[in-house]
Amino acid sequence: MLTPKHPRSAYFHVPFCQHRCGYCDFTLVAQKDHLIEAYLEAMAKQTSELGEGIELSTLFLGGGTPTHLSIDQLTRLFEIIFSHFQLADDYEFSIEANPLNLTPEKIDFLKQSGVNRVSLGVQSFDSDILTFLERDHKPDEIFEIVTSLQSRISNTSLDLIFAVPGQSLDGWKQTLRDAVQLNIPHISTYGLTIEKGTSFWSREQAGLLHLPQDELAGDMYEFALEFLDEAGLQHYEISNFARPGYECRHNEVYWTGYPYYGFGPGAASYLNGVRRQNHRSVITWLKRVQAGDSPIVDQEELAPETRAREAIIFGLRRRAGINRREFQERYGFDLHQLSETAIRTNVEAGLLEETDTHLKLTKAGCLLADSVVVDIL
Ligand code: SF4
Repeated sequence: MLTPKHPRSAYFHVPFCQHRCGYCDFTLVAQKDHLIEAYLEAMAKQTSELGEGIELSTLFLGGGTPTHLSIDQLTRLFEIIFSHFQLADDYEFSIEANPLNLTPEKIDFLKQSGVNRVSLGVQSFDSDILTFLERDHKPDEIFEIVTSLQSRISNTSLDLIFAVPGQSLDGWKQTLRDAVQLNIPHISTYGLTIEKGTSFWSREQAGLLHLPQDELAGDMYEFALEFLDEAGLQHYEISNFARPGYECRHNEVYWTGYPYYGFGPGAASYLNGVRRQNHRSVITWLKRVQAGDSPIVDQEELAPETRAREAIIFGLRRRAGINRREFQERYGFDLHQLSETAIRTNVEAGLLEETDTHLKLTKAGCLLADSVVVDIL
């Protein structure tokens, strides 16, 4: 099976937030709403060479916080997008949202605009943890907003963070119970990591912030695996859980190596076998587009073996793992031919499992996925 030439997925990066949370190193600016007009003009310019009526199965607006834009600004962004793209009959149109942005008016607007999946940056139902993470919402507000959202757009996902300094295992269990009680069909869970350049990084360097021990973080992850499975949310990717039929189709495109468009600062695209990456600085991206210069900072035509190795990395993230026969047909390599020793040692260590048809991470392997991937590379 060859990788299709024509992408049916597109990502638009909206790099605005009210405040930069202490742990966040995403491509965004905070307190710079005066740049939104220039951003919209740049997005119109960036997409101007596309044709019309390009059909998409999945469309994803991420950030930043796309819902930080006003209804008028979102209307203009959607006009830009839909002057080139149209949604297929069975489409998925996702948007990332901050709970407090979701007024009933904005939810109605999103629904009328065709949005049929909302990914909410909830992070926790514990007010102390929310304060620590510098989030602006309170647990009570989340219940109200999610209920209001689900009455209009039922395909809702919550992002939750674990292994936060000061968070107990019991506290994490309660957050998961609260999420499940809301009858959410999709949950993403991420262990807190401290990224260079963030304010949490500075605090950690100064000895003012200590992440929980790996053992506690592991217990939290394992509890999530068991609890969410019992609640009917299947573990379909290392960090993602969904009721059947609610898996994020857009992310599946990334994990299965299919092509996609990407627009905006920091966005990547994968077209005709070429991976391109836009500049991560919002200001530099804007200046380059305004000046008519390319905002691309990195471009690579993937060699067959590189593509195959990337497919292993992404394929192992999925709980279904890698179908060995399909892998060979699509990439022209046998898995063992590429990584014989790493596969054997990780199978022996109980981190990888090999069946007649598939290679996949075990539960223990999910906890140590990064080291398995490094071995395989
Ligand atoms: S709201 Fe989300 S994207 Fe914005 S700064 Fe906080 S974590 Fe980052």
